[in-house]
This record gives sequence, structure tokens and C-alpha cells, in this order.
Amino acid sequence: MSCTHTVALGAYLLGALDPAERSAFEVHLRTCAVCRRELVRLAPLPGLLAQVDVDDLDVPFDDPAPAPELLPLPPPRPETTRSAEPSARRRGLVLAGVGVLVVALVAVGVLVLAPRDRDPVRLSAADSGTGVTATADLVAKEWGTELWLTVQNAPKGKRCKLVVHDRAGRAEIGGWWGTDHPEDARIPGSTSFPVDQIERLDVVVDMQVLVSVRP
Ligand SMILES: [Zn+2]
Repeated sequence: MSCTHTVALGAYLLGALDPAERSAFEVHLRTCAVCRRELVRLAPLPGLLAQVDVDDLDVPFDDPAPAPELLPLPPPRPETTRSAEPSARRRGLVLAGVGVLVVALVAVGVLVLAPRDRDPVRLSAADSGTGVTATADLVAKEWGTELWLTVQNAPKGKRCKLVVHDRAGRAEIGGWWGTDHPEDARIPGSTSFPVDQIERLDVVVDMQVLVSVRP
């Protein structure tokens, strides 16, 4: 079972829909069990959850095909002081909210407890001659190594490249960038060399090595 509107859920959860799109999507959510199920699945992060107003959604709790993730509703108890209809509905909304929260907490628990990817290796260096400093985060990938650089004090208005050397004496270009960036910019790069085979990273401008970063 699928729905072509489901693709809008991510944008909806991130608050990226404009008001008209947002209300149209909320109208659709009332009638579409597929999208509601997906909403519950995609809202695991508390930050995202905080942006979902369950009351706003007006999620019907008497859905003929309830999402398995939602908590089952207890039979409505007779109300003595207030009319049963609105409070039962209110209870349904609260329970729907609790269901979303439970799913979110389980998802967060899974994220926290799941074995993490290998932590990035952080290397730093400062060159006393050029005054340039660099930090590199090396992230092991199936295809090699993902690189994230920050470079300080590089001369402005230059084209800069990263040359990655491996322990076998080979070299690859890990990336090119312009030096007119904020000092804390994180510059992406990549190499086919595995993390443990990287001998050094040279930050190069005009064939001059500004700084070499080594493990
Ligand atoms: Zn839908």
C-alpha cells in the first residue's frame, strides 16, 4: 500500500512546506492511513516531534485500518459529568500522541544503543613557516576515506588543493576549494585510500605545501 503524497512528509516534519501546502497536507493526513503510518515512522527525533502538533493533525482514532505502531484504544468509559464524545476524542488524540512518543523514544534508544560507525580519526597540524593550521576528520568508508577539513590562515583569493599520500607512496587529489571561506568552514574531500593507509595530507596552494597533516 502506498500513497504519492508520502514524499511530502519529510518536508512537512521539517516545517519546510508553505502554509497552503501545509494545511492541504494536513487535510490529506486525516484521510490517509498510509501517510499517518509513515508520519509515525518518520517522527523518531524529538526535535522533529516537537514540531508536530498532534491536536493540529486531528488524527482520527477510529481509523478502520489503524497503524500497528499506534497504541490500541481502550473502550470509551461512560462519562458522568461531561459529554462522552469530546472527551473520548480528546483521549484518542492524547493516546495517538503517546503512541508517537513511544515510537520516538524506542527509535532514539535504538539510535543511541546501536553500535556506532567507526568514529572519525581527527588529525591536526600547524606549520610554523606558513602559519597555516589544519584539522582533518577522516571517516572510514567502503570506498575509501571521507575527509572533512578546516583550514586557518591560508592566503585569501587562492585555489587550494588537498593531496593525499598513502603509505605505498601513491598520491591522490582529495579535493579543490577556494580559500575565501570562513575560518571554521568544513571542507569536504575524499580519497580511495583507507584511513589506516593514509600517510599524510598536504594542503597545497600554487605548488607550495601550506601545511602537512599526519597521523
Ligand atoms: Zn497519503
